[in-house]
Amino acid sequence: MMTVWGCDIPLKVKIFIWMLAHDRIQSAVQLKKKKWSRSETCSTCDKIETSDHIIFQCPIVVFLLSFLRYTFGWSKSPTSYEEFLLEFVDNRRRKIQKVLLFICAGAMWTIWKTCNDLVFNKKVISTPMVVVYKTVMLIKTWRPLMMPKFSAMTDDKINLMSVNAH
Ligand SMILES: [Zn+2]
Repeated sequence: MMTVWGCDIPLKVKIFIWMLAHDRIQSAVQLKKKKWSRSETCSTCDKIETSDHIIFQCPIVVFLLSFLRYTFGWSKSPTSYEEFLLEFVDNRRRKIQKVLLFICAGAMWTIWKTCNDLVFNKKVISTPMVVVYKTVMLIKTWRPLMMPKFSAMTDDKINLMSVNAH
């Protein structure tokens, strides 16, 4: 399995994904365990807010994941971190894995930032497409981090996303 540490993304995002993998991100359920006085439900959809809910299951994320599924021709979208690893990391060729993990890390980080903006700054996004645009913009800024031999494939995937977002 390709680990997050071998991925060409910013360190803070690697740490975030490591925490997600270990169910340590500050979801409502996690905060509740630390006796934070907030309900355990998601601010967007009122379901129980686990890590997997925030990153893979909330309606806003499902929209983004459907966009990625449609753009890259996946047979299905991951609904949990475990599924994401099994289907989208373990089962693919190395070159594709590297690029896919890069894009998915961008999507996860965008979701996490958007979710925090909503919870802490009460910033509501106007349309679900906003998370798609934000993801594309973010991975474009990460693009110089990608190893040169994967550049062409990364550009192809970013272009495909840009085209489908319009
Ligand atoms: Zn939700």
